[in-house]
This record gives sequence, C-alpha cells and structure tokens, in this order.
Amino acid sequence: MIRREVARGLVREAGGEALLERLEHLDAVRSARASGAAGAPGAAGARGEGLRAPDRGARPDHDVVIAGGGLSLLLAPLLAAKGLRVAVLDRARVGGAHREWNAGEAEVQALVGCGLFSREEVERLIVARYREGFCRWHGGGTYPVRGVLDHAIDARGLLDAARAQAEARGVSLLDEHALVAHAEGRDAVALSVESGGVRRSLSTRLLVDARGAASPYATADLICPTVGGVMEGLEVGPGPRQIQPDVGEILVSTEGIDGGFQHLWEGFPGRPGETTVYLFYYARAEDVGPGALVSLYARFFAQLGRYKAGEPQLVRPTFGYIPGWSRLSPAPRAKGRRVKLVGDAAARHSPLTFCGFGASVRGLARTAKALGEAVERPEVSEMGEDAPVHAGTGALAALMARPPRGMGAEGMNALLDTAFSVLHAEGDAFYGALLRDEMSAGDFVGFLQKTARLRPSVYREVFGALGAGALGRWGVGLARELLRVG
Ligand SMILES: Cc1cc2nc3c(=O)[nH]c(=O)nc-3n(C[C@H](O)[C@H](O)[C@H](O)COP(=O)(O)OP(=O)(O)OC[C@H]3O[C@@H](n4cnc5c(N)ncnc54)[C@H](O)[C@@H]3O)c2cc1C
Repeated sequence: MIRREVARGLVREAGGEALLERLEHLDAVRSARASGAAGAPGAAGARGEGLRAPDRGARPDHDVVIAGGGLSLLLAPLLAAKGLRVAVLDRARVGGAHREWNAGEAEVQALVGCGLFSREEVERLIVARYREGFCRWHGGGTYPVRGVLDHAIDARGLLDAARAQAEARGVSLLDEHALVAHAEGRDAVALSVESGGVRRSLSTRLLVDARGAASPYATADLICPTVGGVMEGLEVGPGPRQIQPDVGEILVSTEGIDGGFQHLWEGFPGRPGETTVYLFYYARAEDVGPGALVSLYARFFAQLGRYKAGEPQLVRPTFGYIPGWSRLSPAPRAKGRRVKLVGDAAARHSPLTFCGFGASVRGLARTAKALGEAVERPEVSEMGEDAPVHAGTGALAALMARPPRGMGAEGMNALLDTAFSVLHAEGDAFYGALLRDEMSAGDFVGFLQKTARLRPSVYREVFGALGAGALGRWGVGLARELLRVG
C-alpha cells in the first residue's frame, strides 16, 4: 500500500498546489461534518453566525446568488436571461472544474434544448464517442450495453462556455469568494462572504446553494468518494487490462469487499491517448472516515496495475464526494424558504449510478424555471422532478454501501454479476433504461424478481443490510410509484 503522504505528493505533482488544496478542503469538510463541528448541519457556522437577517421590505443587491460555481454555473445565464440580477460565487475560480464527465445523448440534447448552446457548439465539447460500454464483475462476466454513457464531455470547455455566457448576460462572477454564513429574513437573505481573509456582506432575494458535498445542507445518507483523473500511457487493446478507445468501462471490479467496502473502477477514453480513470466506493455517509479521498488516492496508485496495464501517468487529477440519497431517509432540504438546494447538495440524482452531471443537465431548463418562480414565490420547495426508479434503486445502493457481513468477500461481486446478467439478457433498452434513470417502477420490480429467481439469497441479503424499518419504507416508496403509474 502507498502511504498517504506519497499519494498527496503524486496529486500535487500532477495537479499543482491549488488542486491539492481543493482535495484537502473536501476531506476537511467531511471530517468536520462527521465530528459535528462548524459547517455541519445545525452547527453555528452553517447559518446565521451573528449575521443580521434583512429587514422586511429590504431591497437586496441581487435577485439570485448561486453559491458554488461548479456544474450549477450553467443555471446562471438561464436565470439572467429571465431578466434576473444574478451573481455566482465560488471559493475557487467560478467554473474551474476539477473533473471530467461522461453522458448520453439525452444530456447532449438537453444542453441544446435549454437554449444555452447550439448543436454545433455541443458537438465541439464532445471529446469521444463509444460504440458500447460494459460492466464487469470480479470472478464473473462482462455485460456490454449500447446507447448509455457513450459520450465524453470536455468539462472545462463546457464551464468556460457557461462562464462566457454568464458574463455576456451581466452575471456578477465572484472568484475565490466563499459563502461562510447566511441569515434569512422575510423578503431577502443576508450573506457573509469571505475572500482573501476579508469578509463582506451581500444580500439576495434567493440563495441557491450549489456548494455540492461541501454544503452544510448536503445531508444525503449515502456518499460516493471518487478519485482518479485523466491518464496517459494505458495499454491499448482488447484484453481485460487494456483500454479500447471506442469502449466505455462503466463499472468494473477487480477484487472483493475489502475494509467493508466494494471498490469499483471506471475507465472512459477521452482525447486521443487519454483515458479518465476513477476508483470509487459507495458508503453510508457516517461510515466514511477522515481523509477518505487522500486514502482512496493511495489505494488508486497502489492498485491501478490490477485494473490496467501500461505505464500510466496521471496528468489531471479529478476527485470528489458525490452525495446519494437512498429515499429511505428524509430528503436534503434547506431551512427557510429563500434558500434552495440544487445539484449534489440536493442529491435528487440516481443513488445507484451517482450520475449527477446527467441528472442536473437533463433537469436544467426545469430547475431554472422553478428557481425563477421561487424568486417571487419562495414557498415553492422542489426544484426538479424525482425519477420514479429512484424509489427502488436507493435500497440497492444502501446494500452496496454497507454489505452485510455474512455475504463474504466475493458476495457483492456475485450479486452484481447475477443482476447484470439479468439486465443484459433483457437487452439494451431495458439495461440502458436503468442506467439512464428511465426505468419504470414496474420494470424495476420485474428486474428484482428475475434477479431473486437466480439468486434467492438476495432476500436475506437485502433484509440483512436494511433492517425492517428501511425495508418497509422501501416497499411503501415502490408501491406509491407503482400505483401512481397504474
Ligand atoms: C470525480 C467525479 C467524477 C464525476 N463524473 C461524472 C460523470 O461522468 N457523469 C455524471 O453524470 N456525473 C459525474 N459526477 C457527478 C457530477 O460531477 C456532480 O453531480 C456535479 O458536478 C454536481 O454539481 P454541483 O454544481 O452541485 O456541485 P459541484 O460541481 O461539485 O460544484 C460545487 C462548487 O461549490 C464550491 N464551493 C464549495 N464550498 C463553497 C463555499 N463555502 N462557498 C462558495 N463556493 C463553495 C466548490 O469550489 C465547487 O466549485 C462526477 C463527480 C465526481 C466527483
């Protein structure tokens, strides 16, 4: 195993000091959350901090302030186009993405459909297309699928374009400004913002919390620590330890459960000679220890050779904690009416695939519309729709996040192998629907039944992982979706 200090050094070497700072900030926020320190929900630092809420009838500086200029920066030009006075602030550079995204045709269409880009502009942001993708389980089979997660998107290019559009529409962009506190009044929210050690105040009619996993409101019960980045030097070819430029590797395991977690790889070829490789695991939020991203990087560098051959070199590290909400516990929600959660802070994306980019982009137009309405009518609480299939998949993610002890080291691989053999046997439309969040509740129940027929122990495993209470909530959630459709 590589030491954490060595892993930090390798990330610094490839990404520079500022990127390492982002990594350590994410780890620090999570550790503070776990220990209930400032920044955790309910703690003093998360909200007021002595800040005075605006008086009734106050005239705020902005209509909308978006705190967090990651992917949610895409909302800014859409809101400004509605005639709203918009500001975006980020503790780093607004639009300074530190990740790469893979997506499908639905997301490409949504970027055009919401009016932000022309088809030609989006085409220029697609750095690779795949003929197929696959999932492969240690000791099991390989299950190809077509028409899903088959585009690699230039994240930096996308956010640069969104930043340019925001500027052109008069959005105020506040680089290196961290939101440290806010206090809500009847008509506006006061914000305390810190830049270079200096604090100042702003006010807005609506605060959009887009701080991702770092938001104090990001209370989703599951989390997916993810590390890796853009690599060069992977061996090209058809073998399992080689990479094919026209094939996406969606989920791959190379070992059994270790340290209580099932680790997974993914590999997505990008520009010629480059592949984005990630190592990640699903966990209950409370099970993730301090410094988990740095520790996962140590594992990444140590185990990469099990996944891919060649002389790999990390050229652009990308990482993060992706929250996931199982739908078995209360939804993340901000206190008050004038603070709205979007993106990872809200965690309304799939708890099974954690494809937050896909969900945010598909919901872009709808979210911008809901936020625009909430400026006038802040009582509107939901900023987007929840896909019906999430009522079912959350329980599977919860099972993966804390595998029952009796399952044995290879138990999760065996279960996933059975489940994916069923998906594959049903064909691309069925298999792809689950990965694209499009599967109906009825089809999902059918999928579970077929999996259970091949692996009857799944009932015991799910019960062991969830317990009676969560199992009941799962059943009720699924039944509600089945009845809604029926
Ligand atoms: C490594 C990795 C790979 C991923 N790959 C994919 C993929 O291929 N496909 C897919 O569908 N999804 C993917 N995702 C998920 C996707 O990136 C997220 O769902 C999406 O970025 C969430 O957008 P967001 O705007 O909510 O948060 P983010 O994009 O995470 O942005 C949050 C921003 O908030 C800022 N911030 C934090 N604290 C403060 C503060 N106090 N004040 C001001 N700013 C602050 C941060 O600097 C950051 O810029 C991936 C995630 C990770 C971590």
